[in-house]
Amino acid sequence: MKCRVPSVALLLIAAGVSAYVSIDLAVAQQPGGAGTQSDRGSRAKARELTRDANILFQFSTLDALTQGIYEGALTFDELARRGSFGLGTFDSLDGEMVALNGTFYQIRSDGTVWRVAPNATTPFAAVTEFRPEARIEIHTSMTMSEVSAFLDRQLPSLNYFYAVKIHGRFQEVLARSVPKQVPPFPPLGNVVAQQSRFPLRHSEGTLVGFRTPQFEAGINAAGYHFHYIADDERAGGHALDFEIADAVIEISMLREHTTLLPATESFGAATLPIE
Ligand code: ZN
Repeated sequence: MKCRVPSVALLLIAAGVSAYVSIDLAVAQQPGGAGTQSDRGSRAKARELTRDANILFQFSTLDALTQGIYEGALTFDELARRGSFGLGTFDSLDGEMVALNGTFYQIRSDGTVWRVAPNATTPFAAVTEFRPEARIEIHTSMTMSEVSAFLDRQLPSLNYFYAVKIHGRFQEVLARSVPKQVPPFPPLGNVVAQQSRFPLRHSEGTLVGFRTPQFEAGINAAGYHFHYIADDERAGGHALDFEIADAVIEISMLREHTTLLPATESFGAATLPIE
């Protein structure tokens, strides 16, 4: 028996924020003390449990990337089959990747934006088919940390993944990208020290992001992680900070998480997790 619990359903109109948040947690309840189920019944129940679960597909792990496993091992052609919305990086850490409406963009460390060829490869990426379940309009200035704290108060639980899309006008987006590396690959911390920062003022565009629960730290980046692409497709990158002027935030809960691990020697030989 399945019971839909609308955990959060509220209308907020305060401080320039108007929001209608309604994310249903589809909770399948087991009838207590019932007799044994037939296989067919169990399979039907299993289908019921997973039917509404949006899937987060991820390639490799954040710990592997942090350690310098930058060898591209999955093509974008393959990645695109798993989702049209998401973020990641490229073979040899050649820039920041953002996927929006099925278009995959590469923002290189010189700030140029490229459309990604299907035969290009990634060492780390996370994608989903974005199906928004909640919409929040922001008509006031909010920074990245303010948006993060605000969203945390709206979400029905912090124990799930969420896909978050923020489209609108930004006073500023502080974006960054990283330069292409050559083997032997240095750890990510060393590369981030060489990052290029792009302060984008009065920009219109989309932040594509995920919220990852704390218990998944190491698999992915715990908390919020956003990549930006401007509407004119001429600027973007990993978002270090931003300030919204006017925006619409859309959210989708993701309860199913698939992690495909690279079939590479470097991944197989790595010592994971990192101490
Ligand atoms: Zn990033």
